[in-house]
Amino acid sequence: MSVSVQPKMSSASSEVSVTLLGATGSIGSSTIDLLKRQRDRYRVEAVTANRNAADLAKLARELGARFAAIADPAAFDDLKSALAGSGIEAGAGETALIEAAQRPADWVMAAISGASGLKPTLAAVERGATIGLANKECLVCAGAYFMRRAGAAGAQVLPVDSEHNAVFQALGGGRREDVRRVILTASGGPFRTWSAEQIQNATLEQALKHPNWSMGAKITIDSATLMNKGLELVEALHLFKLEHSELDVLVHPQSIVHGMVEFRDGSLIAQLGPTDMRVAISHCLAFPERIDEPAPRLEWSRMATLNFEEPDMDRFPALRLAREAMAAGGAAPTILNAANEVAVGEFLGRRLGFAGIPALVEATLLAAARRGISKEPASIDEAMSVDHISRSLASEALPAIAARAS
Ligand code: NAD
Ligand code: MG
Repeated sequence: MSVSVQPKMSSASSEVSVTLLGATGSIGSSTIDLLKRQRDRYRVEAVTANRNAADLAKLARELGARFAAIADPAAFDDLKSALAGSGIEAGAGETALIEAAQRPADWVMAAISGASGLKPTLAAVERGATIGLANKECLVCAGAYFMRRAGAAGAQVLPVDSEHNAVFQALGGGRREDVRRVILTASGGPFRTWSAEQIQNATLEQALKHPNWSMGAKITIDSATLMNKGLELVEALHLFKLEHSELDVLVHPQSIVHGMVEFRDGSLIAQLGPTDMRVAISHCLAFPERIDEPAPRLEWSRMATLNFEEPDMDRFPALRLAREAMAAGGAAPTILNAANEVAVGEFLGRRLGFAGIPALVEATLLAAARRGISKEPASIDEAMSVDHISRSLASEALPAIAARAS
């Protein structure tokens, strides 16, 4: 296991300085909720967002941040005027996001969505910060490199993703060499009981209705296709240094058991908890301490029935594609992620049907294989280059697939 257990705090006092990459999103908001409850313990250094300058400025003021960075340069003027008189510095563009990550905060929440989170998160890793890692794309697109850099810089990577946070907690139940397998649970999404034909014709509104979790749009669609679980397999592979054969997915519709570790003696250690990301976030924020009730506690009535079933790779081909990409290794997970980001974007824009998402991912993986793109990215630039090529291959394949599956 690559996560060490030394808490890192400011040396001068017990105050912990925090930076939020992706402060305006779903994970960002849940983190802010926790920070606001403990203002005497946490101080905010920097906050970032994509293009909503008004929201970002409001957050920066509320939190007393020192620096606010907006990814979209066109929103810079709005950000500056919204921060006028506050004393909070403003920045825009990728360099400003990287500056936000480089500023001296003890703890950094990596909650930008998608491959855009790679460079800023790595910038925080390189200076040895403690990272609350929500952005799974860092590990999907460049996992081996990312974890190597974290190890070299002494950065502690704490998993925010609920399943990985659960596994991280359960791994404490034994020795690494005694682990037989790691099981990630999946809710099964809104289409768990639907027929293949119904799933193919699912609408955007139906796909956005997650049964248990409230999350950003991209990950909600990924939960409906089960691609999210596929990305999480790759995430777990790197985070916990596992073989792909040591990883399994179990569908668990109640989302109460978040992850399990099976040891060689047959003991299964599971983590259970409410379906509220504040539990996992608080675990990372206070680690190795715990915070009082970050979310309403689990009621026993909700746990009366816990069901588990095998995932169906035929009805959910995205999970099969992700497993194959994980087993293939090399550039395959990076290609899979990029194609999926394009496909989900098109689906959210109503230009591609639900069945088109895995179809576009599969077509892109095949096109990339024909081009001989197979080498594992050995740097973030290489990962971003595979990401860009894969996005153009996906765009090329898109019209034919959209015509078939719209
Ligand atoms: P979200 O869409 O709600 O928020 C994304 C944040 O990133 C926002 O602040 C947005 O402004 C910013 N952002 C988006 N595109 C950007 C870009 N190109 N450049 C810079 N900033 C950009 O997403 P979310 O649901 O909070 O998820 C964030 C990350 O956490 C994702 O990687 C997701 O897979 C992961 N995650 C989320 C959850 C959850 O419950 N929401 C659970 C596990 C993991
Ligand atoms: Mg998850």
